[in-house]
Amino acid sequence: MSEVATGGDIERETMGFDVVIVGAGPAGLAAATRLKQLAAEKDKELSVVILEKGSEVGAHILSGAVIDPVGLNKLIPDWRDKDLPLTTKVSEDRFYYLWKTGGFRVPNILMPPLMSNHGCYIGSLGSLCRWLAEQAEGLGVEVYPGFSVVDVIFGSDGAIEGVITGDMGVARDGSHKDNYTPGIAITGKYTLFAEGARGSLSKMLIRKLGLDAESGPQKFGIGLKELWEVPAEKHKLGFVQHTMGWPLEDKTGGGSFLYHFGERLVSVGFVVHLDYANPYLNPFKEFQRAKTHPLIREHLKGGKRIAYGARALTEGGFQAIPRLAFPGGALIGCAAGFMNVPRIKGSHNAMLSGMMAAEAAFAAIDTGRSRDVLKAYPQAVQASVMAKELKKVRNVKPLWSRFGTQLGVMLGGIDMWLNTVFPFLGHTLKHLKPDYATLHKAATEKQVEYEKPDGVLTFATGAFAPGVTVDDALYKMWAIDGGIKWNGFAANGQYFTRWLNDFVADGPLPLTSTFDHGFELTAGHFVVPKKLQLYARGSMVFGEFKNSSEYGGGARWYFLPTERMWLNAELIKVNHAPYGGAFTPYTAGMNGWTPMLQALLAF
Ligand SMILES: Cc1cc2nc3c(=O)[nH]c(=O)nc-3n(C[C@H](O)[C@H](O)[C@H](O)COP(=O)(O)OP(=O)(O)OC[C@H]3O[C@@H](n4cnc5c(N)ncnc54)[C@H](O)[C@@H]3O)c2cc1C
Repeated sequence: MSEVATGGDIERETMGFDVVIVGAGPAGLAAATRLKQLAAEKDKELSVVILEKGSEVGAHILSGAVIDPVGLNKLIPDWRDKDLPLTTKVSEDRFYYLWKTGGFRVPNILMPPLMSNHGCYIGSLGSLCRWLAEQAEGLGVEVYPGFSVVDVIFGSDGAIEGVITGDMGVARDGSHKDNYTPGIAITGKYTLFAEGARGSLSKMLIRKLGLDAESGPQKFGIGLKELWEVPAEKHKLGFVQHTMGWPLEDKTGGGSFLYHFGERLVSVGFVVHLDYANPYLNPFKEFQRAKTHPLIREHLKGGKRIAYGARALTEGGFQAIPRLAFPGGALIGCAAGFMNVPRIKGSHNAMLSGMMAAEAAFAAIDTGRSRDVLKAYPQAVQASVMAKELKKVRNVKPLWSRFGTQLGVMLGGIDMWLNTVFPFLGHTLKHLKPDYATLHKAATEKQVEYEKPDGVLTFATGAFAPGVTVDDALYKMWAIDGGIKWNGFAANGQYFTRWLNDFVADGPLPLTSTFDHGFELTAGHFVVPKKLQLYARGSMVFGEFKNSSEYGGGARWYFLPTERMWLNAELIKVNHAPYGGAFTPYTAGMNGWTPMLQALLAF
């Protein structure tokens, strides 16, 4: 008898494969490709499926990364001859410690060799995934985007038998709509979980199977990234810059990164370690502030932001890796936490771990085994170049957390050098606390004041990132208004509050809800009775977007005998527009004057 982890006795369609992979990131795609390569080498039949919740492969992967090709070299050694859009080689590599107006560049010679980005490539991780998916499909892997996996099927012996995809046609209140279709059960001899950092099933498995019983607590960061298109004269192909320090306080870990690649593209981003103390700290706003630093601002001047997103990253490193294999399944990639934090790189290790799990699964299936523990996988990990790399940097994050940025970065650097020169050194620092335990009570911490975004270099936490479609949201508004009319004069006032939450989007959003409130006042006078009205209006919005304001004045011409249809001409002064959209002639974040001409019909 089988049971699903979260219960439910629904009859569902079942599909069976040899190996089921959850997640089409670098880990899942490398695992699938390696499985099929091995099957082809040994002339064996092997069915492999990848289920990906994004609408297409790469849809949930943030663009613009520095990629160490070690994983790619191993998986597809001739990738350079295969049209992969990963052509920008790192040409310049800088690391700065920043203060508000300047920074100290750490000479490259002082940086431990493993921190060097030379030999790496800059490109879109999303494009790399799409290309990897094409290679995998070319070998016969079945890749199904648009399928979110929501549950795990356990056999009566506790072994994992497969997974269940999400039901379709479920209303917000949980009831079934007419088009309701139950999710499909996808079973396999082995299931590889490649969900990336903080995957929902991986978290459930770690908890349910006690996979972290012998490892330290996992640590996390939030990473925010923007993709910019900059003027040709500003573009320095292959330029890589990392910073730590300002705008974060010394006790808060994190820093910025900036990569020039492709056709006038710059990927700029910011990571905040989630073991910060002050609950008023806002990672998104820290990122916006970081971009105003002269060493970052100069790279973006004259450019325009074309996409952005946010994602979690694992930061616990070697000492936080949970038990990797369990009956019928294994964790691979960032679901297992193979991120190298000081390098801010994980895609190479994701691929290497996927390949190691694939080799263990193939060997097992080849000898007739199924749904047991793939012991060869953790053994291969322990002996791998990946483990060697992660061991060298294992004390860096604990040193940052204990000593703050200035001292922690120095000590971390010394520790990485020691581990490079004397790799046999065995000291491993533990992570002291899980991230949630580091947060202080709001009453004991200072409010953080953030500057208003200018809509050009810095932006408000608008959820509606280019390239990410919000399919659904819950919009609640409460308003009270009143007005008077007398002898051709009219005045009207409205106060409103608005909430937006429960976003359903096809990509990452930097917030889960928005709230704002404000008022609008209008006064007008008919200079030609019932035909031509001159008016003035002003509004302010407070909250998420702070003190956005708008003032306008114009004329309304009621050209029909009814007051239900009119032409409207208005000049508007906008101060940091809180929203943009199809019916407004300006974009979110805009400052300045705008003329507007509208024909309006009122019901
Ligand atoms: C801001 C930031 C900057 C980074 N910069 C770099 C860099 O420069 N270089 C570098 O090498 N690495 C970088 N990384 C890390 C890198 O993104 C990860 O190490 C890498 O993507 C991990 O690969 P993965 O396959 O394990 O997981 P992911 O790439 O996260 O892929 C997981 C996939 O699984 C899908 N998925 C998740 N859950 C489910 C589910 N239940 N059902 C179906 N599908 C699911 C997701 O949609 C996603 O496509 C960065 C990370 C961040 C956040």
